[in-house]
Amino acid sequence: MESITCKTCGLDKAADEFALRSDRPPGTRRTICKTCRAAGQKSRYKKYKKESYFLYKSTRARSRSQSLHIPFDLDAEYLESIWTDTCPISEQPLDPNADRESESAPELDRLVPELGYTRGNVTFMSRKMNRIKNNVSVQELEQLLDWMKSNGLK
Ligand SMILES: [Zn+2]
Repeated sequence: MESITCKTCGLDKAADEFALRSDRPPGTRRTICKTCRAAGQKSRYKKYKKESYFLYKSTRARSRSQSLHIPFDLDAEYLESIWTDTCPISEQPLDPNADRESESAPELDRLVPELGYTRGNVTFMSRKMNRIKNNVSVQELEQLLDWMKSNGLK
């Protein structure tokens, strides 16, 4: 098979390591290999997430409200206006660059879920606190707290 030199990594690779272009005559391949292109997209996405954090959060909330069929009226500016550097519950720092699965990752919580991602109904909090909040009722939490205290847990 024909080989092509990748313009990014400089390696000679088999032609099928280069994606076909749909906007050029049939058989035209890209000049950057699939591995380099995927890496580039990933770093562009990371850059976008870092530089436009509130836009990223707002876009995600919009698509979530579309799939959940709940109201949405947020934008990046509003999210920036309600941002807190720490979790309002645990007071631990919120890290916008944290991995999405990390406990300190900020999550946009809907106070009343069915009211949707709407102004006055959302707040940032840590993923950890959000998970707890979404999984127990006040009564259950009080029962758990009483039980933990009576068993000497901290
Ligand atoms: Zn390459």
